[in-house]
Amino acid sequence: MSIPYEQKAPAALDQLGLTVALTHLDQACQQAAAEAWSYSHFLGYLLDGELAERHRKTVQLNFQFAHFPCLKRLEEFEFSAQPTIDRRLIDELATGRFVHDGRNIIFLGPPGIGKTHLAIALGVLIAEMGHRVYFSAAIDMVRRLAKAMADNRLHREMNNLTRPKLLIIDEVGYLALETAEASLLFQVISQRYERQQPIVLTSNKAFADWSHVFASDPIMASAALDRLLHRSTVINIRGDSYRMKEKRKAGSPDPNPQPQPRRRRVPDSSKEVLIVNDP
Ligand code: ADP
Ligand code: MG
Repeated sequence: MSIPYEQKAPAALDQLGLTVALTHLDQACQQAAAEAWSYSHFLGYLLDGELAERHRKTVQLNFQFAHFPCLKRLEEFEFSAQPTIDRRLIDELATGRFVHDGRNIIFLGPPGIGKTHLAIALGVLIAEMGHRVYFSAAIDMVRRLAKAMADNRLHREMNNLTRPKLLIIDEVGYLALETAEASLLFQVISQRYERQQPIVLTSNKAFADWSHVFASDPIMASAALDRLLHRSTVINIRGDSYRMKEKRKAGSPDPNPQPQPRRRRVPDSSKEVLIVNDP
């Protein structure tokens, strides 16, 4: 005697690995009968639950894999504090299209202006879209690669950096790299470029100073920049450190006070003019 389909369903779901659908099968059947669902509504309900749970697990794994130093979100970013940032551009990046287009995003500017915050926030969004993201400070990344090279496992370590859909390299230029370290950073940039895999990078150094970043090797610096900038969006942030602003708001003294614009009267003129940083 053949087994009726009703009885086959649980075993089939189990065999197919649709564990969430299996867990919800009885409840879905009862609800479908009580609310007179169509067959397609019933099937859609079960499969949607399965997919939602799979996505949740993927995102959870993506977050573990990403090694974000902390969680930062775009909603927490106060755009009014950093008027040189084009909000619409950041919103466009938040759609994730730059990842599919293989476009690099480079945040430049002095410390404390939100470069790392924005890089992490974009990484978080991409991880939530279901893609692998990997975050590393530049110096940690090259030191891990150097160690891997010494242990004869450079290829595997390099794969960890070239495979993820998005690589975030933070703080390029904060510490000067030695020649071997600079060459490893170059290899990462070059390999991702060849695979059209995007990088989000932050640096406090203007491109003109990048030869210092690459162990005073202008040829390596320009070859790295060439690849990074080929398909890229550069976001140059100018402004005051957010931390310092917050401190000033809280009333503590500023260790690096900004020169204040001063007003003075110009001789032979009845007009008062604004003179910024006049000695
Ligand atoms: P950078 O990488 O440019 O040195 P960070 O992104 O590390 O700066 O910012 C320093 C701190 O200030 C972080 O805690 C960050 O979340 C916060 N921060 C910076 N800019 C903003 C901003 N515009 N709105 C909210 N928080 C900010
Ligand atoms: Mg930073």
